[in-house]
Amino acid sequence: MSVEKDAKPAARSVRARRCPVCGKPAEAATRPFCSPRCRQVDLGRWLTGAYVVPGEDGEAAPDDFGA
Ligand SMILES: [Zn+2]
Repeated sequence: MSVEKDAKPAARSVRARRCPVCGKPAEAATRPFCSPRCRQVDLGRWLTGAYVVPGEDGEAAPDDFGA
């Protein structure tokens, strides 16, 4: 929380983040992604990983997720 406090406002905007999907510089409108499309792609991956088909992996602990 206090880490950003020391950073100058200008430095924050200059710092270009890379799109985690394709590696291009992120756009302000779709940060941290470069485009809505990449955002969707990442969202899809996230959902795919989160919503694992029940029964396939008996090792998973659902209780850990809800609470
Ligand atoms: Zn991208």
